Amino acid sequence: MIKCPYCFEVLEEKIKKCPHCEQFIIDTIIETEFKSLDKKKCFFCGKKILKEAHICRHCKQWLDSVDNGASTYDQI
Ligand SMILES: [Zn+2]
Ligand SMILES: [Zn+2]
Repeated sequence: MIKCPYCFEVLEEKIKKCPHCEQFIIDTIIETEFKSLDKKKCFFCGKKILKEAHICRHCKQWLDSVDNGASTYDQI
């Protein structure tokens, strides 16, 4: 099983662009034997995404910058 390095959704094949988060895959695709089940809420749209995800597959926002708190609201 292979996964997108950004949204951690399962990919059908080794592709250049993830159909879930629509990011071009320039990092190494993750290979694993199990599917992620843990979910978290997106900071931006509130929809459920995989716990490991770096990007929300729904609103395409990167989550890394807000993982440590909500003190970066005024940086746009
Ligand atoms: Zn993806
Ligand atoms: Zn979102």
